[in-house]
Amino acid sequence: MAKEQTRRTLESLQFDNSYARLPQQWYQRTEPAPLKGARLAGFNAEVAQLIDLDPCSVTPEQLVCYFNGEKSLPGAEPLAMKYTGHQFGFYNPDLGDGRGLLLGEVVNHKGERWDLHLKGAGRTAFSRFGDGRAVLRSTIREYLAGEAMAGLGIPTTRALCLIASEHYTQRNGMEPCALLVRVTPCHIRFGHFEYFYYSRQHDQLKLLADYSIDRYYPQCREADNPYLALFLEVQERTAELVALWQSYDFVHGVLNTDNMSILGETFDYGPYTFMDWHEPDHIANKNDDQGRYAFKRQPEIVLWNLSAFAQALVPLVPQEALEQALTRFMGRFRYHELKRMRARLGLQQEDEGDAALVVELRRLAAANRLDLARFFYHLSEQPAEELLASELGLCESVPELSEWLKTYWRRLALEVASPPIREAQMRAVNPRYILRNYMAEEVIREAHAGNYAPLNDLLPLLREPAKVDPKLDRYAGMPPDWAGAICLTCSS
Ligand code: AMP
Ligand code: MG
Repeated sequence: MAKEQTRRTLESLQFDNSYARLPQQWYQRTEPAPLKGARLAGFNAEVAQLIDLDPCSVTPEQLVCYFNGEKSLPGAEPLAMKYTGHQFGFYNPDLGDGRGLLLGEVVNHKGERWDLHLKGAGRTAFSRFGDGRAVLRSTIREYLAGEAMAGLGIPTTRALCLIASEHYTQRNGMEPCALLVRVTPCHIRFGHFEYFYYSRQHDQLKLLADYSIDRYYPQCREADNPYLALFLEVQERTAELVALWQSYDFVHGVLNTDNMSILGETFDYGPYTFMDWHEPDHIANKNDDQGRYAFKRQPEIVLWNLSAFAQALVPLVPQEALEQALTRFMGRFRYHELKRMRARLGLQQEDEGDAALVVELRRLAAANRLDLARFFYHLSEQPAEELLASELGLCESVPELSEWLKTYWRRLALEVASPPIREAQMRAVNPRYILRNYMAEEVIREAHAGNYAPLNDLLPLLREPAKVDPKLDRYAGMPPDWAGAICLTCSS
């Protein structure tokens, strides 16, 4: 029988910090350095439920006091994790939580273990020349992204709360700092494995693999080679994750191996973008001159990252077995991508021509700068072609779109589901709202003026992006002209 949810206060959260019990060379214990003039900017009652925290039992003052490190949170054992990783294709041995601290793990009434992590809590042993801080702009973007991804059903980290401050630091000029409390079951990155591999601590590497299996993939214990099974699980989740990104025109922006979670969640949000129109070459991060992390390259880059992860497992798994496993990635990615794209198109049956239908849609979307988010939303209503074109802001008819629609409608005739059922199914995967850069920009602008209401107002819309919100329905329309000029960089 399921246990009833326990409602806890901040002081009575059930911490059990398995990571803090691991050997010393894995981390450095560090206390958070409080921000000046800290105040609560956002609190996520949904995430509170995940850790059995009773949202009604907490006050803004308490959240600020404990998460801003003014008082120690009972049960927490803050530490900065050591990891390394490949950044833009080059190995960097000097990484680690430079501005993050793992507070500990909260175990809820279901036995689920959730990491609480502070982002922007001050300098650590791994800060190098950094200030250990995160700016309000980037923490808001991460907070919003977590809810938007969760709303789309894409695996992601989320945030429990956001704390703003009167602490300033140099980024794009002087900017206010903030602190995010990130919540996820997993803060282990591909780069954790790379650290032990490249520093030749192979006994610790094995311990990390065992820890990861016990905590995230216990089913791998039964396999002939549990470490190969671990790799295959991570690869499968990662293939599905990138398939979902590609299906929703999401560009992560900084797919370094230290930003890859072994749980297959979207992790470490920086200059990410949900594209306003379909652009395969889109580069979200203006510092990425070569376009290494351009939208269309994400699947191959993720495979590259998985190869780096596989390399780190060589002391534990025969190399040929890892190489063989990696050859399956693209097939798994395509499988997951076609599955989601079929769902978005309302196709339950499988037809040989479906992949080509998707390819052609993307091609014509790129050629005509179509916004696929609004395209799919309106396609769910099976509208007349003129109506669809006008919803998409097309001034003239696009012959290749007419052709595509004809093929699509012929294809729909093979379906058995009745139109109303299909429409409902399509609605579930084709949201009315998507988190666009300009929406985040508007929220950030207000937050810089001390007004956090727009931030908090946006969250319900992101969590339930299929539900019409009359107050915010302008977000269903075309982005404003200035949206195209938004420039995102790594600076955060
Ligand atoms: P990111 O670009 O946020 O994924 O961070 C890459 C690496 O730089 C990680 O090891 C971070 O901990 C570190 N880092 C990023 N920003 C800062 C900062 N402001 N202070 C210290 N370390 C940082
Ligand atoms: Mg990172």
